[in-house]
Amino acid sequence: MKLLLINPNNAFQKYPPLSLAIIASLTPKNWEVEILDNNFDKVTFKPADLVGITSFTCTANKAYEFAKLYRDNNVKVIMGGIHASILPDEALNYVDSVVIGEAEGIWDKVITDFEKGELKKTYKAELLPYQNWPMPRHDLLHKSYTVGVIQTSRGCPFNCDFCSVSLFNGNQYRHRPVDEVIEELKTIKAKTIFILDDNILGVGKKNEERAMELFVKIKEANLNKSWFSFASINFADKPEILKAAAESGCYMIFIGFEAEEEEQLVEMNKNLNIKAGANSYINAVKRINKYKIYVMGGFIIGFDTDTKETILRRKKFILKNKINTVGLAYLTPLPGTVSYKELEKQNRIVNNNYPTDWNKYNFANVVYKPKNLTASELNKLFYEIIVSIYTKKNIFLRTFYTLLQTRSIRITKLAHHTNMKFLKSYQNAYAQHLKNQQVKNNIK
Ligand code: SF4
Repeated sequence: MKLLLINPNNAFQKYPPLSLAIIASLTPKNWEVEILDNNFDKVTFKPADLVGITSFTCTANKAYEFAKLYRDNNVKVIMGGIHASILPDEALNYVDSVVIGEAEGIWDKVITDFEKGELKKTYKAELLPYQNWPMPRHDLLHKSYTVGVIQTSRGCPFNCDFCSVSLFNGNQYRHRPVDEVIEELKTIKAKTIFILDDNILGVGKKNEERAMELFVKIKEANLNKSWFSFASINFADKPEILKAAAESGCYMIFIGFEAEEEEQLVEMNKNLNIKAGANSYINAVKRINKYKIYVMGGFIIGFDTDTKETILRRKKFILKNKINTVGLAYLTPLPGTVSYKELEKQNRIVNNNYPTDWNKYNFANVVYKPKNLTASELNKLFYEIIVSIYTKKNIFLRTFYTLLQTRSIRITKLAHHTNMKFLKSYQNAYAQHLKNQQVKNNIK
């Protein structure tokens, strides 16, 4: 029997599909498993007994297209991942079966049912302890990836209105035993690792102790790998944790600052940032930089409390503080989130021709009617901020400050490289934006 696992192309995030490597590891040994990765390869028909597809919301369309290709050839298709888990009824219009939630604990039943010809429409997996599962099949991931991926914990206890993490992975941290993580790291060839945890540190003493254990053991294992991950602002609080993280190979941490004023933080329920206060953001970056780790600060625009003035103040804040690298996104109401439900209740979701419109839910489009501005005003402000962040002068200033604060040429080079990569991708997006404006003007 052959299982073909498909990863639809994601233009915005090209990282190895860990979930498919996990599914492969849970599949009985008498099955042959192949991962077809659309980030690099075209999806055409290949003989298979069963197809599994994963998808984010912005790739759901493509996933449905690929499902059609295989179903037209009489191959059963199962879909999993966050989008199908939140909207199983929609997915069932395009696939034979949906796995809702994490696949561990249910995948063997899916395979047994398929072998008996009794595949059910849905399978709901419980959130199980994150331990003692087979090692993900990293060997099946596409060889062109230069970054490896791993998870050391799942879940997040916070409930930011726009975030779908706790809907899928629950709102309690589930840690993997550190020794298992080390064993898995040894199976990954790449020297750079993206630790996909929703929050690598977590909050509170128990989580800090486990992070310390993780960092110390990674260092002791002497694997000679560098890593980056997500954390909350409290990552900067304890020097001993920062030191251990850096010594274990951490060189970059993504922190969702989102906004610098309390009104927007309260609106999105971003409690840790409210507690820390925006004044602390810059000191947090400095403290992290001191340990030769650079910060990618994430900011969002388009909250209901946002006006032209608040957004321009966010721009000023970003430019003034020279955070090493910056990512800017529109508020994006992902299905199932509080943000989505609120906007839908108020009839303000504009791009709701589903599933076609799902590809716009990629944080780079305004998919709803903003409250105090028009979508095109918000759009204009987005590009005004982006263009200012990525002027040559401002990139140079950020690079200079990174060098000053980290005192590391290696880290400065890495941060600069990220800035240049962003410059390129935003330049492309900006060119597209100008083209769209031109088309609109011509139509008018
Ligand atoms: S945005 Fe971050 S802190 Fe907030 S719920 Fe999502 S993962 Fe947790």
